[in-house]
Amino acid sequence: MAYQHQWHDGSPTDWPPGKVVCVGRNYAAHAAELNNPVPEQPLLFMKPATALVPLTDPVRLPVGRSDVHYETELAILVGCPLTRAGQQQARAAIAGIGLALDLTLRDLQSELKARGHPWERAKAFDGACPLSRFVPLGSDDDLENLQFSLTIDSEQRQRGHTGDMITPILPLLAHISETFTLQPGDVVLTGTPAGVGTLHSGQHLTMELDGRLQVQTSVE
Ligand code: ZN
Repeated sequence: MAYQHQWHDGSPTDWPPGKVVCVGRNYAAHAAELNNPVPEQPLLFMKPATALVPLTDPVRLPVGRSDVHYETELAILVGCPLTRAGQQQARAAIAGIGLALDLTLRDLQSELKARGHPWERAKAFDGACPLSRFVPLGSDDDLENLQFSLTIDSEQRQRGHTGDMITPILPLLAHISETFTLQPGDVVLTGTPAGVGTLHSGQHLTMELDGRLQVQTSVE
């Protein structure tokens, strides 16, 4: 079945899946672990809607690739159009939050980066964006105080706190909307904390979002 955005109770959202706008190196410790400098302004890239798959489906490693990295990220579901938006407008446009894996063919990405080529083949392939269901955001929720984690086979590998983001969520949405109009059904991935690594067949993944959402999946 084609991917569809869902609320945490399993009901579909009103919006068709759109593009996914991602930010690279939004956590200093992750930039450092890959020996990347922290960019002066957010480093943006996109995945198409065809990259989306439900996070609960077993992760399929692309055939013939040996170095598929997981990156656990907080995902924002956009519910209203945003063009050159301010932070207040951006806050009002957030329909829900969830979790995503920004799957990355790390060896291919390094090769493309070295040649000065775009990253799409390493980041935007079919299935490159497993996405959880979404929980709505309450008006009291503090976007700079959300925690999330990834545990693989009972060992915690990644732990993120939105307070550690170099560009926090609202300035990030506002910044993205300067260049790319965000439409209802679009998703923003807000960057990965340190601890990324290679996925292996048979691994069991548990991802948690601030006591609001827990998702389990496995690697096929
Ligand atoms: Zn990422």
